Amino acid sequence: MQACSGFAVMGSIQQPVWTKESVFPLKGLGVGGCSNLVKFSSVKPCRSSQLEGNLVSGRPPTSVFVPEPKTEGAGSSFVDYNLSESDPEVRTIIDKEKNRQFRSLELIASENFTSRAVMEAVGSCLTNKYSEGLPGKRYYGGNEFIDELEVLCQKRALAAFSLDAKKWGVNVQPLSGSPANFEVYTAILNPHDRIMGLDLPHGGHLSHGFMTPKRRVSGTSIYFESMPYRLDESTGLVDYDMLEKTATLFRPKLIIAGASAYPRDFDYPRMRKIADAVGAFLMMDMAHISGLVSAAVVANPFDYCDIVTTTTHKSLRGPRGGMIFFRKDPVLGVDLESAINNAVFPGLQGGPHNHTIGGLAVCLKNAKSPEFKAYQNKVVSNCRALASRLMELGYKLVSGGSDNHLVLVDLRPLGIDGARVEKILDMASITLNKNSVPGDKSALVPGGIRIGSPAMTTRGFGEDEFVSIANFIHEGVQITLEAKKSVSGSKIQDFMKFVTSPDFPLIDRVLDLQRRVEAFTTRFPLPGL
Ligand SMILES: *Cc1c(COP(=O)(O)O)cnc(C)c1O
Repeated sequence: MQACSGFAVMGSIQQPVWTKESVFPLKGLGVGGCSNLVKFSSVKPCRSSQLEGNLVSGRPPTSVFVPEPKTEGAGSSFVDYNLSESDPEVRTIIDKEKNRQFRSLELIASENFTSRAVMEAVGSCLTNKYSEGLPGKRYYGGNEFIDELEVLCQKRALAAFSLDAKKWGVNVQPLSGSPANFEVYTAILNPHDRIMGLDLPHGGHLSHGFMTPKRRVSGTSIYFESMPYRLDESTGLVDYDMLEKTATLFRPKLIIAGASAYPRDFDYPRMRKIADAVGAFLMMDMAHISGLVSAAVVANPFDYCDIVTTTTHKSLRGPRGGMIFFRKDPVLGVDLESAINNAVFPGLQGGPHNHTIGGLAVCLKNAKSPEFKAYQNKVVSNCRALASRLMELGYKLVSGGSDNHLVLVDLRPLGIDGARVEKILDMASITLNKNSVPGDKSALVPGGIRIGSPAMTTRGFGEDEFVSIANFIHEGVQITLEAKKSVSGSKIQDFMKFVTSPDFPLIDRVLDLQRRVEAFTTRFPLPGL
């Protein structure tokens, strides 16, 4: 039934040619399969007996109709409505969101569109099961298949990054990237031990220890003492010399590589040397680039790091989740395997999200395919095409280009900022985010925007399309510049009020841009349910 309503939505907003290939219930239904689907979807409640019938027959649920049994035990006659029937309000919101995803240019560097197969696993009965502990060592019964799934997922995780199971282990239970990082800190640090990560305003992540002069913002900076390293503002590259000097003075127990808004690769050999000189662990948080690492289109952090963490939903294209890879041999006298596994459970988490682990296993199988490697290569070549067109149009990019999946545009030379540009682009169905750039004074009005290529590459965009993206963004920036000139008041709130008011004089130009952006984007299919 779910697949059936999914079909209706797909049919309404996507290319028929693509829909046909990807709607699995049509297979095996024979002639008139489609009308069967329609008929089935008009059956209101889905009774328990139907579900059991599906299990017994082993066929896809939508292809089976089992009549109700003549006798029912007391309490067995529940009804299991589908989403449209049981909650039209939520169904409508999901449909609206899907339509938004389909129509807009998705350029947020941390986002992607996961596959139908991953979504099927995530939307499965795996969500019902409690399985605290690790495979073979669970706190509840009934876990034989959950064990099989998690072991498969672990094996595929090691394979996806070409790791030797004798040297590396993995925990696939972290609920997301930030929890994965905190689990590592809990495993190898004592409260108030020292850590160093890339500063948030220079491209790092909150969970690497962000704090301001007034406030310890991230929990990481509350429980540990964090000192950031930064970029060399003249080059936009990590200032490894400064990191070396300050690490020698600060003597951190952990140095963290990895970023959320850094267009270049990390110098792992250099960071290893610095970590060794001060007796620190070296961890790489490859959340943004794990897909690129898996396809070997960027440097391999596993050659130099003790621990590697990642999210699973960014360039890797899996479900929302996290993973922690650790060396099996003791590092600095610590058995990372038991320390990390214990930090995940019982240290910080309870039951694993088995539906996510199911989706992750599907994603990691795909990561070994030639198509995945080709996709990651395209993510990088598309990003380069975007970068060079933006530079042709006169934009200044942090570090002067990109080696990975994102560019950081410094808008300050134009006399405009990321917040205002983000707003106008958003109104034109171009989704990206304002981002601080090195040298920014205010975190509230950052001077740049971050643009990522993974999501639109998933939808089939090539280099030509990414040149068009640069042109669309350029139009939006021109509109923003004019709007800023005609607004009275210099505050960001004045601008926001002005452009959303009914008499915003440039609204026709914004709507015209939006119309052309959507006409362009909707030529490409959107994967997933
Ligand atoms: C996205 C990201 C995270 C956190 O991921 P969540 O799943 O949002 O918690 C951690 N580290 C880096 C470098 C990231 O980019």
